[in-house]
Amino acid sequence: MANALGARDSAEERLRRGARPATPHPQPATDKVPFILSGAHVVMPTGILQEGQVIVDGSRIAGTAPENARSIDLTGHWLVPGFVDIHNHGGGGASFTSGTPEDVLKGIHTHRVHGTTTLVASTVTGDMDFLTHRAGLLSELAEQGDLAGIHFEGPFISPCRKGAHSEELLRHPDPADVRKLVDAARGHAAMVTLATELPGGIDSVRMLAEHGVIAAIGHTDADYEQTVEAIDAGATVATHLFNAMPPLGHREPGPIVALLEDERVTVELINDGTHLHPASLELAFRHAGADRVAFITDAMDAAGFGDGRYMLGPLEVEVADGVARLVEGGSIAGSTLTLDRAFKRAVTIDRLPVGDVVAALSANPAKLLGRYDRVGSLEPGKDADLVVLDADFGLKGVMRRGEWVVEPQLG
Ligand SMILES: [Zn+2]
Repeated sequence: MANALGARDSAEERLRRGARPATPHPQPATDKVPFILSGAHVVMPTGILQEGQVIVDGSRIAGTAPENARSIDLTGHWLVPGFVDIHNHGGGGASFTSGTPEDVLKGIHTHRVHGTTTLVASTVTGDMDFLTHRAGLLSELAEQGDLAGIHFEGPFISPCRKGAHSEELLRHPDPADVRKLVDAARGHAAMVTLATELPGGIDSVRMLAEHGVIAAIGHTDADYEQTVEAIDAGATVATHLFNAMPPLGHREPGPIVALLEDERVTVELINDGTHLHPASLELAFRHAGADRVAFITDAMDAAGFGDGRYMLGPLEVEVADGVARLVEGGSIAGSTLTLDRAFKRAVTIDRLPVGDVVAALSANPAKLLGRYDRVGSLEPGKDADLVVLDADFGLKGVMRRGEWVVEPQLG
């Protein structure tokens, strides 16, 4: 790829050095009393601890309790790791594609109070200048630790499966163009969604894989064989499996079968009850297995905000009863989902085991992002990012890096 892309410039060197930048992790504040969250069902990677405990010392989870630790009784509650959302366009009335930095922070906060302690901001299709500028703005928020990276969804997608993206701004995934966005993100490009069957698609997948950026197959019209080729080239994620791709046919299995059957691929699922039939969700879980599913929101501005008219990039969207659709054409235009609702739905309606749901909401996406050493489970040494749920799986508390974002009101 070096030949096709030209000599390695300083931008690339910077990118290589910082391809997976370490998030700043403040040292535990010395004046803060450590505490023990006790009595809850604690969901660990190895299983569920009944009446388990999690010790929080400063910003981290600790293995042993210091003598001065204070105890907080969470009997009857669930303690799960903070959620990791790798596909999210905004919330609280704010868009990650068009808002000011303050708007973006507002959107992040909206999802944080619903349990998402690690969030990748997704952009929608725009022109290249706009998106490179946007990448610069979002990369600053990643630098300060508020975002876990940037996901470019579009413009390198198929006009046949464009969903809520503006058709006139779509383009082929020329590796040089894809590279421009990656460079503009200054080491914080986490993922690019591509229709890999388009000219340049496979080369772009290789280039992304080489730079440690996730190549995601989505908004695609690829057939089965083309999808297999893209996975072999290094694509590792299915962008909202089932949505914005050809349906499964018995003679034409299409991308869905290729993505489900390959162990190298993690499939994103939007579990809001609108994007997927529960039986399709179950099928994906069964075939991929709980280790290869990532629940995402694909949320737009209206998440955590309310019904009304919104803009998704340049397109107008009407949100009614929590369902977002394009005013023109009526395509589903993202969701108004938050991950606490996805959790509750998965356990109470889809009847999935709690441990599998936790994997799909925390561990699997954290591993994809290369951050499982810091987040994604409640193991000692990791960031104290956690969610407290009541017996009915309603959200009661959220902690991020040892600070309550939502303090549980107990007793
Ligand atoms: Zn999206």
